[in-house]
Amino acid sequence: MAIAGDVAAAATAAEPITVRCPRDGRVIDTVTASTAEDVRCTADRLRVAQPGWEALGVRGRAPYVAALRDWILDHEARLLDLLQAETGKTRPDAVVDLLSPLDAVNHYLSHGAGYLAEQRPRPHALAARTKRLSVSYRPYPLVGVISPWNFPLGLSLLDALPALIAGCAVVLEPSEVSPLTVLEIGRAWRQELNAPEVFAVLGGAGATGEAVVDAADYVQFTGSTRTGKAIMRRAAQTLTPVSLELGGKDAMIVCADADLDRAAAGAVWGGMFNAGQVCVSVERVYVEAGVHDAFVDRVLAEVRTLRVGPDGEVGALASEPQAALVEQHVAQAVGAGAVVRCGGARVAGAGTTFAPTVLTGVNHAMSCMTEETFGPTLPIMRVADADEAVRLANDSPYGLSASVWTRDRERGRAIARRLEAGAVNVNDVIVNLNQVSLPMGGWKQSGLGTRLGGAHGLRKFCRAQAITEARLVPAREPTWFPYTRGRQSLVRRLVRLTVARGRRRLSP
Ligand code: NAD
Repeated sequence: MAIAGDVAAAATAAEPITVRCPRDGRVIDTVTASTAEDVRCTADRLRVAQPGWEALGVRGRAPYVAALRDWILDHEARLLDLLQAETGKTRPDAVVDLLSPLDAVNHYLSHGAGYLAEQRPRPHALAARTKRLSVSYRPYPLVGVISPWNFPLGLSLLDALPALIAGCAVVLEPSEVSPLTVLEIGRAWRQELNAPEVFAVLGGAGATGEAVVDAADYVQFTGSTRTGKAIMRRAAQTLTPVSLELGGKDAMIVCADADLDRAAAGAVWGGMFNAGQVCVSVERVYVEAGVHDAFVDRVLAEVRTLRVGPDGEVGALASEPQAALVEQHVAQAVGAGAVVRCGGARVAGAGTTFAPTVLTGVNHAMSCMTEETFGPTLPIMRVADADEAVRLANDSPYGLSASVWTRDRERGRAIARRLEAGAVNVNDVIVNLNQVSLPMGGWKQSGLGTRLGGAHGLRKFCRAQAITEARLVPAREPTWFPYTRGRQSLVRRLVRLTVARGRRRLSP
């Protein structure tokens, strides 16, 4: 198990990473970035331990993962303090980051053995009945998980723990912006729980991530679309499979018949939870003209109740570059004619904290409507009708998720089906992430592959192995050599019986 200290001893070339609290800029800790050689050595050790881990079976592995879950819960307060310090999150947002993956983990602990049990598919045709068919799920030996800074814990554990349950070893590189809490969990796996050496968390940035891609048999990445493309290019060299959970620009469509109070409250939470740094946050809002002003009034009333700061509703942005990006989107929109209805700038004396911001008079010539902002901003656009809203919602290279708000459920579902997005919430936001039985993944440039989704959430970390066994074992099969006239005729008649329909079954 490579923990921060081991890596510090092994690495010589890479610059140490300074982790700061974005709210006040104070240094919390430094982490030595793992070199490519560190990653290779760690991968080698994990590969040695993985066959024993796989041999334990889901039921043998489950107690270790359950012990990690319990350790996290037993050290909740300390982990939350560290997480808040390195990310600038409010306490409630940090709690979501810490606790939300555990529900999915519990599901896989309970159902994993069933999901990975050998399958015995029914033969599809009469001739196939002469074979015994089975599919077994064999884990990729080493999964590389590369995670982002917005939910450092949630988006590390949500993938790493199912991969461990599936029988893989996991090397995890958390974002250099906020690696400390995840490193602490990696340390606990070996040092506190004395668990097998099949899970390692390595500090580092892009170069470390690249080495993880090179070392792994399967890459699970969550982060920006730009990095996702770089990872896919790199993984193509070795045909290593990748699963990419990328950026988004989620649209919210508010129909004239929506419950405006609920829609406004949903827009504000959906846009400003975790200071808007959520891949599936409400990034842009389209409102049917008849209720636009009433909706905006309700949103403004709601936003005015928000408190910023670690104990309030809206925390700091996770880094200085992120705060600069949000400033840039707001400034560009204002320059192009948007109106700042509230907020619009950083909160004085609070580091990267950005005031909850509502913009109106926006359009698709503005970056705040077309590029991922990832801040506590709600740009609201008036549209003639739902058709225009659907057209604009789909006018994006992204397709992560979206939401539709209407009292007419049938209409809500119909609009949802017209949206080019991997998930749509009707009269709700973000909540699809909590549905372990649903696949979570983006369309278009928001991703490739999905996470969770019931059995798929474990099987994706495995290679399906198909085993075909002969039930009848004559000296030779009729399809084998030699191709005598009599055997060919028999085979042709049998095949015809299978593939033809009606009178064509009878050979001419
Ligand atoms: P990022 O792409 O900058 O970095 C993500 C991770 O990749 C980090 O750990 C980083 O060290 C590593 N990395 C950087 N360059 C690399 C390279 N060349 N090869 C391998 N690894 C490399 O993303 P971020 O800024 O940390 O995260 C924010 C982004 O993540 C947003 O776009 C957000 O929408 C997206 N996101 C998506 C989901 C989802 O499930 N779809 C969830 C959360 C965040």
